[in-house]
Amino acid sequence: MNLAPYHPSKDDLQGAGDYDAPRGKDNVWLVVRAAVKVQSKENEDWKVIKKLFHVDAHFNEGQMVKEMTLRFDFHCHSTASDGALSPTELVARAAGAGVEYLALTDHDTLAGWPEAHKAAVDLGVQLIPGIEISVQWESRELHIVGLAFDPAHPAIVELVAYQQEARVNRAKKMGERLDKAACMTDAYRKASELSGQVAPGRPWFAQILVAEGKARNDQHAFNRFLKPGQSAFVKTPWLTVEQAVSALTEAGGVAVLAHPTRYGLTRKKLRTVLKDFTAAGGRGLESLTVGLNPNQKMLVEECLRDFDMLASGGSDFHTPRQTWLELGKVPPLSEMHTPVWQAFPTAYQPVATS
Ligand code: AMP
Ligand code: MN
Ligand code: MN
Ligand code: MN
Repeated sequence: MNLAPYHPSKDDLQGAGDYDAPRGKDNVWLVVRAAVKVQSKENEDWKVIKKLFHVDAHFNEGQMVKEMTLRFDFHCHSTASDGALSPTELVARAAGAGVEYLALTDHDTLAGWPEAHKAAVDLGVQLIPGIEISVQWESRELHIVGLAFDPAHPAIVELVAYQQEARVNRAKKMGERLDKAACMTDAYRKASELSGQVAPGRPWFAQILVAEGKARNDQHAFNRFLKPGQSAFVKTPWLTVEQAVSALTEAGGVAVLAHPTRYGLTRKKLRTVLKDFTAAGGRGLESLTVGLNPNQKMLVEECLRDFDMLASGGSDFHTPRQTWLELGKVPPLSEMHTPVWQAFPTAYQPVATS
């Protein structure tokens, strides 16, 4: 058997970058991605792979295999924003679904974090700090998922305070508009009571619209009143992409562009978004989501590669009523992806259980 250093062809390493770089411990994920390819192609075992790649004890194949098969979900919601389950119920459901590595990403709030954290400790789920931030980019609203930041960092505290104030003002205006446009009374107060929040998001307004017979279902409520262009849509001065990404980065976390295919952007526009997002320090792309068609899959893979981004993924679970969307339902990592947790601080790296 030839144990000379292996120089994989470009083909082997499609997307894995320059092949001289990934040797040794510094870029172990690239080594693994290459090794997995070589292994599957040439039927080599891990011992041989280690020699071929000049990697030693730093290269823990068990850990790497574990990472590739890790059950993770970095996008979901609780009653602290617009989800149906309390943080405790959510973590319990995730544990039941076999999720090992979880981020609760409520919209512009960390209110669910302390409770979720406690439940995660009790249930043996590794929970990392998370949030989904509404931002403005040109005249559009985009969502940025923030992961593995310090939740007590002043930049995060300030970000949440700013977004919450914007949300309270927006909810009050939305209520006023619904009182007129949908002939309701006290829509804001009702949404506020139903949600137990001073800043109820649009799904709570959708629920009261349905309850009062103003819309057939949530989707209809959005189409008729709540989505951009409709009478109760309130343009909101969200933080910019740059501001949100800076705050997350300053707090030691990673910014991920959420559900890139759900903004109705053309390929060209999405690439412009990603150019700005990565220039601001955004590193992750939520590429691992179910329900993408083949073209969308190709597009996200292309973006991961061209913008050198880290793959993140999540279910965007909101409620058990959406039976087609379950916690932990996230497509697996492939050897072509670099998982987003590679950029997490040590404290939030996946726990080695191999
Ligand atoms: P908000 O954060 O208040 O703007 O509400 C955004 C949330 O509303 C999203 O995270 C979804 O949960 C939900 N949503 C957005 N668009 C729709 C839609 N067309 N139909 C149903 N729910 C929607
Ligand atoms: Mn939501
Ligand atoms: Mn979203
Ligand atoms: Mn979401």
